[in-house]
Amino acid sequence: MAAAIKKVVIVGGGTAGWMAAALIARVIGEQVSIELIESDEIGIIGVGEATIPPIQHVNAVLGIDEAEFLRETKATIKLAIRFDNWGAIGESYYHTFGSAGRNLAFCSFHHFWTRARRAGMDVDYWDFDLNYLCAREGKFAKIQGDDPTWSLPYAYHFDSSLYGRYLRRYSERLGVVRTEGLIDNAQRDPETGDITSLTLRDGRQVAGDLFIDCSGSRGLLIQRHLNVGYEDWGHWLPCDRAMAVPSARFEQTAPYTRSIAHEAGWQWRIPLQHRNGNGLVYSSRHCSDDRAAAILLGNLDGEALDEPRIIPFRTGRARRQWDRNVVAVGLSSGFLEPLESTSIYLIQSAIVRLLHLFPQGGIDDRVVAEYNRQSQIEYETVRDFIILHYHATRRDDSAFWRDLRAMPVPDRLAAKIDLFRRSGILTQDPLDIFMEPSWVQVLMGQGIVPAAHHPLADGPGDDELAAQLRQLAAMKREPVANMPLQDTFLKAFGGQA
Ligand code: FAD
Repeated sequence: MAAAIKKVVIVGGGTAGWMAAALIARVIGEQVSIELIESDEIGIIGVGEATIPPIQHVNAVLGIDEAEFLRETKATIKLAIRFDNWGAIGESYYHTFGSAGRNLAFCSFHHFWTRARRAGMDVDYWDFDLNYLCAREGKFAKIQGDDPTWSLPYAYHFDSSLYGRYLRRYSERLGVVRTEGLIDNAQRDPETGDITSLTLRDGRQVAGDLFIDCSGSRGLLIQRHLNVGYEDWGHWLPCDRAMAVPSARFEQTAPYTRSIAHEAGWQWRIPLQHRNGNGLVYSSRHCSDDRAAAILLGNLDGEALDEPRIIPFRTGRARRQWDRNVVAVGLSSGFLEPLESTSIYLIQSAIVRLLHLFPQGGIDDRVVAEYNRQSQIEYETVRDFIILHYHATRRDDSAFWRDLRAMPVPDRLAAKIDLFRRSGILTQDPLDIFMEPSWVQVLMGQGIVPAAHHPLADGPGDDELAAQLRQLAAMKREPVANMPLQDTFLKAFGGQA
């Protein structure tokens, strides 16, 4: 019979390790003891500053006070990502956390928009999206409700080191034991192959029943010891390096991440209260490090506050994210570049999945298989969404963009794009983080516009449709006029911007 899980050992104290510690301690801390091992000598990756709205659920489960959170992590509000130069040089669009217009039963708003456009009306899809209308003016107020048409979903930009420290304090208050030291080796049960204990360089031993590998891209347990293998997605997503540098802040705080496409990759700009985070994600096959540094440093808004730091990465995923008694969470489980700020969400989702399926009475192979099935689909749907950004482009100014435009994409993605292009219909995988409004914005933002609309959108006559759209756009604009700038909101809420 499988042994009960009484002690959980978390390997690594980056965002993955401390988020796992905090959530597990909060949810089942009465049933298991938790020890987290981290090495000051190795440190953390120290990037990962943009999130998506589900981070709110983490804060809600942990019972975190938002004003304290904003202060302690020097966070700002994120309503969207603004994509510049992706569809074509000089073009911009926003992928917001909102949804445009108002859906009728069975018929999404973009069908009405498509019909209006095909009838020759001058309508901008984004004018019906509250997140966009606030983002472009730098405004923010808390508007939340059950009706997605009138709510303003948001996430945060935060300082990743401060976030880790914040979660560490939280976890230690709930009884998580932190052990500092470098793990040198792992002992395994000769019969089952399970990990039984870890040996630190100074000889200390840490035993456990379930090990959560949050050791970063080295995958200390899941790869070095269990050797599950890695599925490489570099043929679809050729970027394999990032260069990061903080810069000084002086401008009004934008409530969105900037993603600016360049000749062989793209640059992020993330506004925090005390600095901007910047980086360039690029393909080393298409761009040298010197060229990357020139592009990045030549496109900063404020003065660089440090030397640029190179971070190599390999896009893909561990072939089994849960193997024996080891669950890989964070960079050890795989990596997808930060274009849609999904890594921290994937950490959250992995921990929530583990808690749903927690093997309290002992590990069952069927539970492990289910965990791995869900994780695989989730990673693949995010991968496809990111590939879409690179593939759906009209750019042909460099070999990088020409290669990505021409490459064959995964079948599921190719079918999804084709169906949307022909009919405006989108297939939706239930495990996909990104719902219809996200796909519609990126597809249309990059120039893929449906050739037809749903028959239900034929309901109103042309004049009636035009009047309805005018009224809806005016209603969406209305709350924005009296809304404060994000900087005013942050000050009132305890932040310093
Ligand atoms: P790490 O931060 O690398 O932590 C690993 C931990 O393991 C450390 O504490 C280390 O000390 C410990 N460790 C390793 N080996 C040993 C050992 N032998 N003994 C003891 N301890 C050990 N995500 C987002 O959601 N949004 C973003 O905007 C975003 N931007 C990114 C930009 C870039 C360029 C990159 C590369 C990633 C980005 N990410 C982003 C991803 C995000 O940074 C990570 O998902 C997140 O930081 C989690 O990292 P981690 O905890 O898995 O690993």
